[in-house]
Amino acid sequence: MSKSAAAAATPTQPTAVGRLIVFTGPSGVGKGTLLRQLLARHPELHLSVSATTRNPRPGEVNGQHYFFVSRPEFEQMVADQQLLEWAEFAGNCYGTPRGPVEAQVQAGQWVVLEIELEGARQVRNFFPEALRIFILPPSLGELENRIRQRGQDPEAAISRRLDRATAEIAAADEFDVQIVNDDLDQALAELEAALF
Ligand code: 5GP
Repeated sequence: MSKSAAAAATPTQPTAVGRLIVFTGPSGVGKGTLLRQLLARHPELHLSVSATTRNPRPGEVNGQHYFFVSRPEFEQMVADQQLLEWAEFAGNCYGTPRGPVEAQVQAGQWVVLEIELEGARQVRNFFPEALRIFILPPSLGELENRIRQRGQDPEAAISRRLDRATAEIAAADEFDVQIVNDDLDQALAELEAALF
């Protein structure tokens, strides 16, 4: 973790009346699909919308999938301590806006963060009660197939994502729950069993 990322992780402690759920797993593992199904079945769960410096992919909507910001805007958010956690991933910055998450947790709601490993580690430091879930692919080969089939990333980004995936998978046992996303329905059932 960089020095500034560590600084972002020493915030005020939110009152733990709601619940924070951290959802992590390598790029391409199918976290998005799994989460969409979970949220459709449990509207009481709120998904936090992250800020990122990455360009929008086709179909992605600003404010819904991400807040798409420039690098200077992102750096300003970090300097103003507006982010609960943040990290660099495959050449772009990603971070969780602090205000909405703290307000929702304090209001007793369940908030889900879909974030990568470094961010999940920062959350553990300041919010140890958070339930941290790691989604694994059936194998690294299968993960590579899924990333390539998505066809949305240039080759260099694919290989950065695969390197990062290997490092993330090695950290899976830092998490409270590990779920293999082979069969979607089975993974969803395991996720619900962990949450409810
Ligand atoms: P993608 O570019 O595929 O949407 O996301 C790349 C990675 O960034 C994924 O592993 C995703 O979970 C992670 N990510 C998305 N938002 C955040 C965030 O707010 N903080 C952190 N630390 N990671 C994030």
